[in-house]
Amino acid sequence: MKTQQVCILGATGSIGRNTLEVIALHPDKFSVYALTAFNNIEMLVRQAWESRARVVVVPDDTAKRRFTTLWPEGRPLPEIRIGQEGLCSVAADPDVDVVMAAIVGAACLPSVFSAAEAGKRILLANKEALVAAGEIFLNAVRVGSAQLLPIDSEHNAIYQCLPAELSGVVPDQPHQSIRRLILTASGGPFRTLPLAELEDVTPEQACLHPNWVMGKKISVDSATMANKGLEVIEAHWLFAMPADKITVVIHPQSLIHSMVEYIDGSILSQMGAPDMRAPIAYGLGFPDRIDSGLSSLDLFANDSLGFERPCLQRFPALRLAYEALETSQVACVTLNAANEVAVDKFLQNKIRYPDIAAVVEQTIDYMVGRRHTTLAGLDDVLSLDATARTIAKEFCFARNA
Ligand code: NAD
Ligand code: MG
Repeated sequence: MKTQQVCILGATGSIGRNTLEVIALHPDKFSVYALTAFNNIEMLVRQAWESRARVVVVPDDTAKRRFTTLWPEGRPLPEIRIGQEGLCSVAADPDVDVVMAAIVGAACLPSVFSAAEAGKRILLANKEALVAAGEIFLNAVRVGSAQLLPIDSEHNAIYQCLPAELSGVVPDQPHQSIRRLILTASGGPFRTLPLAELEDVTPEQACLHPNWVMGKKISVDSATMANKGLEVIEAHWLFAMPADKITVVIHPQSLIHSMVEYIDGSILSQMGAPDMRAPIAYGLGFPDRIDSGLSSLDLFANDSLGFERPCLQRFPALRLAYEALETSQVACVTLNAANEVAVDKFLQNKIRYPDIAAVVEQTIDYMVGRRHTTLAGLDDVLSLDATARTIAKEFCFARNA
């Protein structure tokens, strides 16, 4: 088989770094074509040098100059592209076979659409694009004859437990043999904290995830369970499942990554250590299995597997996601945009932890009450996303004042 040329959007992040680790185990199968970063240009230089990337994408001219200055002597500079245009061009580059979509947030939308339109194999780690663009994104995947493989561990687990005929397919209706999907969640760092103490939790505490090491935004989302909410919407689109057939279960050990329940009552689950290299290797190797670098899970080190019902009083963000999915795509775009803004403000100590869900709810109520537009394409989604951000910032400001 010819070596697959890989483009990693968001190479310096947690998923990006894990992807480079898996690729480094398989020099015969994969070459790095392009790497992108928004900050941490030092790390990008190191990554590009070690992986011999041919192209890098940085946000602006300042970052380009910095990259050029930091590049060691001895090898020619990679080609340097810039900004959103640069991201879209590498994602659609005719030399690229596989695109890892690991930019955090809705910022991933334009480049992931470019990859879809250009018919790439897309390893979708970013969930915000699918939450915001839903059907519009799936249509781009279908029209472009792209292949979409979920990397988010829950969706990757479900993908692995689906009937064989669904392999490699984006379905447009629920499979008749599936009764429901069961998404597992760790419950995050505040699963057992007395409710009254949630008022005072700090960004540092919220980022301390019990089982996974991830970027800051998704770590806060895991604490609030907004992450699971986004994943419910993601599962709805990826597997054509209605919201009432997607159940969320807290499973504090994070060993079962999710489950598919069939109409005969059988439940298939996928297990493994909580380490993103496993789903990344699955996506890179699909349909074959390749080494991810993980050693065997020590089952004797875990004497129990627990399951709990999520408390919606503790995790209002989860309720909001179910409601948004039932309401409209406008509500889903708004949910995602307002959550990104609120998490950012919380990380900057501008609002308190419970304000995150409150701002999201306020913004959805405001936007859904005023916007009756249908979203026809990416531009509509981006414009709605921008408006929702402005409104959410105002609600954050009001809470900070
Ligand atoms: P991260 O914050 O560690 O990394 C984000 C990457 O995106 C970095 O390379 C950063 O430079 C780049 N980036 C940030 N803002 C950008 C912008 N405006 N334009 C272009 N590039 C930008 O995030 P992460 O934890 O690696 O997560 C990446 C995505 O994968 C998220 O959507 C997250 O929900 C999803 N995901 C992550 C994990 C995980 O274990 N980390 C698991 C499942 C899904
Ligand atoms: Mg996940």
